[in-house]
Amino acid sequence: MRVPLLDLARSNAASKAAVDERVSRVFETQHFVLGPAVEDFEKAIADYLGCKHAIGMSSGTDAELAILMALGIGPGDAVITTPFTFFATAGCIHRVGAEPVFVDIDADTFNLDPRALGKFLEEGCRKDPQGRLISPSGAVVRAIMPVHLFGTCARMDEINALARPYRLPVIEDASQAIGCEYPGASGAKKAGDLATAAFFSFFPTKNLGGAGDGGLAVCQDDELAAKLKLMRNHGMEQRYYHRVVGGNFRLDAVQAAVLHAKLPYLEDWNEARRKNAAAYRDAIKAANLTEMIQLPAEPWSSSGLKNHHIYHQYVIRAARRDELMKHLEKEQVGHGVYYPVPLHLQECFESLGYRQGDFPEAEKATREVLALPIFPGLTEVEITAAVDAIARFYAA
Ligand SMILES: *Cc1c(COP(=O)(O)O)cnc(C)c1O
Repeated sequence: MRVPLLDLARSNAASKAAVDERVSRVFETQHFVLGPAVEDFEKAIADYLGCKHAIGMSSGTDAELAILMALGIGPGDAVITTPFTFFATAGCIHRVGAEPVFVDIDADTFNLDPRALGKFLEEGCRKDPQGRLISPSGAVVRAIMPVHLFGTCARMDEINALARPYRLPVIEDASQAIGCEYPGASGAKKAGDLATAAFFSFFPTKNLGGAGDGGLAVCQDDELAAKLKLMRNHGMEQRYYHRVVGGNFRLDAVQAAVLHAKLPYLEDWNEARRKNAAAYRDAIKAANLTEMIQLPAEPWSSSGLKNHHIYHQYVIRAARRDELMKHLEKEQVGHGVYYPVPLHLQECFESLGYRQGDFPEAEKATREVLALPIFPGLTEVEITAAVDAIARFYAA
């Protein structure tokens, strides 16, 4: 049985009428960039996330760039992040002229490991006379950027506690975690509301996806929000007067309309993903595959929070992964590897001087991870078929 990795038409069916209606309103106004549709969406999503400020951006990547620029991070600076993430996380750090500095991940969640982070801050960095943290290459550490990979939050309480003594801003890459909840010491909060600032992506395959590229920056601080708005529109408040150099990071009104129409469905979609994950868990256990396959961890499941995991991806670790992939290819069961190369070993970052072996957990993950179909609209029959196909491989 053919099982697609992703079928956007199925996922998007429920919201189609609402999307058509909101998009047609944009065409009535002919206001296509920023404007009322974007402002309405920003209000709705700020409300949903519990963030004071939500600023629509042209992509998750551009939202990240805007945040780094607004915080004044640039040449001579370093930002600490994870080597096991989508490229943009570190790419933007490099693009503003700063140095991405990597710290290894937790084996269970694939997220930035607070123990490794603490060790790096203590032993990997030195302090200059002003008390600033200096990276091994001599750059000033200016921020920490954890990623809530695959839809569950990094250990934010620990990460924030490590950042606090150095007054380092913490920026969440929440691109894969919209609606995800975290049981912090100060109460349950949603991803995006857990640090200094955060960014989201509305790439069509994300849990809340547009009809093209889109993104969002969020924060609580009024001054930072004003800077983000400046950065989004070439540093200009009054037209053609440029206070700072920004970029064109503006969100299109059509995208805002699509996202606004889809937002009310997000909770149901996240629930559907979680149900699919539970069905996989049951099927994989029933097929006695747990020696070959490690199920995704649910680090915050005991919190009782519904959205402790929103399963942007359903990522297992599989024995003999590459052979299994060939088998699934033959059986037409969709699958993917996020991500096959850790960022410290990417060709474009060769000059950073990292080597194989520097981040063993991230490297091991790239060899073992396998994503299975999880999208809303996936059927139980398809989940069973996918697990049966996996069982046939290990039985052979
Ligand atoms: C998708 C994604 C981004 C970038 O978002 P775009 O909207 O594609 O620019 C950044 N970080 C992570 C972890 C992502 O998954």
